[in-house]
Amino acid sequence: MAAATEKKPAGSAKIRVYRKRVRLFNLIDKIKLWPSRTGQLHGIRTITVTGDMATLTTHCNKQFVVRNSLNSRAARWLRNKWAVTVCPECGVPAWKLEKYAATRFKRHHGSMLENNTRKPGA
Ligand SMILES: [Zn+2]
Repeated sequence: MAAATEKKPAGSAKIRVYRKRVRLFNLIDKIKLWPSRTGQLHGIRTITVTGDMATLTTHCNKQFVVRNSLNSRAARWLRNKWAVTVCPECGVPAWKLEKYAATRFKRHHGSMLENNTRKPGA
C-alpha cells in the first residue's frame, strides 16, 4: 500500500491516521523521519532493530540509537510535530514532508501499524 501511495505527486497527500500508542519503531519505519534533539528532521536511510533498541542511520550519515518507547522524546516530537527544521544534508523530499504533515495521531482511532513488522512470537 505504501509503495503505491508514495508515487503520488505533491499536493495529493491523503490524511493518514495512526494511533497515539503506535510502537515507535513501526512509526519511524513507516514515515522514515527522525527528529534530532535540536529540532531537525532527518531522513532515515536504514533502521536496524535489535530487541528493544534500534539503530537509525540517516541520509546525512548520523546514527541514533533509540529505545522503542511510546513516551520518548522522539515519539512525542513526531506525534506533536515539534520539529522545526529539516536537515539540509538529508534532502528530505517535499512529498515525504507533506505526507508527514497530513498524518494525524488519535487516541482511539487509526492504524497501529502492526501488520507488516510483526515478527513470529513477538
Ligand atoms: Zn540529516
